[in-house]
Amino acid sequence: MWLWLRGRIQTNDNLEIHGIPCNDACNLCDQEDESPLHLILKCSYARTVWQQVANWSDTPALATHAQETESIMEWSNEH
Ligand SMILES: [Zn+2]
Repeated sequence: MWLWLRGRIQTNDNLEIHGIPCNDACNLCDQEDESPLHLILKCSYARTVWQQVANWSDTPALATHAQETESIMEWSNEH
């Protein structure tokens, strides 16, 4: 999961490197400034992804978990 998220972030970086215009807004939701924290936790797109992961993995708590930075760090350490 974390590798996948990092892959998404790296994909955005690659788009910039290849000269595709990129402003400060998030490339995924285009609603807020892009930052690692936004991409992982605040982005509406990322939230959708988390929700889907929770559904796929049949762990509904994961979606709730993902909404707090400290919790997600604990979660990532445990897994
Ligand atoms: Zn976003």
